[in-house]
Amino acid sequence: MELGQADESGRRKPVPVPGSRYHMKVDVVVNAIGTRSNPLLTATAPDLELNKWGNIVGDGEGATSLTGVYAGGDIVRGGATVILAMGDGKRGAAAIDGYLKQYVFTGKGY
Ligand SMILES: Cc1cc2nc3c(=O)[nH]c(=O)nc-3n(C[C@H](O)[C@H](O)[C@H](O)COP(=O)(O)OP(=O)(O)OC[C@H]3O[C@@H](n4cnc5c(N)ncnc54)[C@H](O)[C@@H]3O)c2cc1C
Repeated sequence: MELGQADESGRRKPVPVPGSRYHMKVDVVVNAIGTRSNPLLTATAPDLELNKWGNIVGDGEGATSLTGVYAGGDIVRGGATVILAMGDGKRGAAAIDGYLKQYVFTGKGY
């Protein structure tokens, strides 16, 4: 593959190099390229706001479009890194703690 022309977002997509195909004899192929969000999770919560890639839209602190539902890591960012997912987890935990104290423990309800 090689990088082709930039699309309207400015991103260059990979395109096949003509005549570059060849065959290899192998015993096993492990397909481990690309990552996507698990669609089962988001399909079971139709009111959850998703972006165009199917990732959950978050507010940066873990809150989603559904009250009381928090998300972070790759399901929000797309394929990212462990350290970013851990940071999301810490921020999300603090936000959940605040939510529980404000709405549940005070009896102000869901
Ligand atoms: C091949 C590869 C190599 C990588 N290498 C690196 C690296 O070197 N350094 C780095 O920082 N990052 C690396 N990453 C990225 C890193 O793995 C992710 O960013 C990180 O794991 C995201 O953490 P997460 O908790 O958001 O998601 P995940 O680690 O994907 O955890 C989500 C969990 O939810 C579970 N789950 C999904 N659906 C459901 C459901 N319906 N019910 C219950 N459980 C469910 C899954 O089984 C999974 O255990 C790599 C990723 C890949 C794919």
